[in-house]
Amino acid sequence: MTDGRAGPRTGNAAATPILLHTCCAPCAVYCLDRLEAEGFETTSFFYNPNIHPYKEFERRLDTLRSYSSMRGFDLIVDDTYDLDQFLRKVVGTGSGRCAECYDMRLRRAAREASERGFGGFTTTLLVSPYQNHDLIAQVGQKAAADHDVEFVYIDFRPGFREGQSKARELGLYRQPYCGCVYSEMERYYRGKHREVQE
Ligand code: SF4
Repeated sequence: MTDGRAGPRTGNAAATPILLHTCCAPCAVYCLDRLEAEGFETTSFFYNPNIHPYKEFERRLDTLRSYSSMRGFDLIVDDTYDLDQFLRKVVGTGSGRCAECYDMRLRRAAREASERGFGGFTTTLLVSPYQNHDLIAQVGQKAAADHDVEFVYIDFRPGFREGQSKARELGLYRQPYCGCVYSEMERYYRGKHREVQE
C-alpha cells in the first residue's frame, strides 16, 4: 500500500476531516468540490480491485494520482489487486454482484477511516446516476456501523454532469465502463450483438 499522509490533516481548524472512497478521478471532481463547499477536509482513498483488466486498473489509478497532484488533495492508495477475492464474491451472483462489489470496497474504506482516525467516510459511487444509489447508501451505513465510524451520506448526483464536464476540460481519462469484467462485456458485447441482429 502507498499513500500521501498518515491521517487526517488538521491545518484548517474549521474543516472536518473525511475519507472519500474514490472509484476514479472523474467521479471525484464534483465530490471534492461539494465536500469542500460543505466544510470538509477531504482525503481520497483508492481501493477498487473490481477494475478489470489490470492495465485499466493502473490507468484509472494513474489518472487519480495525476489529479491529486494537479488539485493538491491527499491520496491514500491500497493498490492490492484482489482479483481472486473479488471474483469469489461476485461469480454466480447475477444481478446481485454490485451489492457484493460495494460491500467489498466500502468495508475496506470504513476500516481505513477507522484505523486512521477519520470520523467518517463517504464514496464517489454516490455521484453516479448509473449506480444503485440506495443500495450504496445501505451498504455504506452497514460498513460504517461495523467499524464504528460515520457514513456521510450525500446525494452527489445533481453534480454528475458538471463533474464529468470539468474532467473532460482537464483532460482526465474517462473510462467507458463501470469496472468489472461483466460491465466491460455489457458495454461492448451487447452493442456488437445488436449490430449483428440489425
Ligand atoms: S458493474 Fe460496477 S459496481 Fe457492479 S460489480 Fe461491476 S464494477 Fe462493481
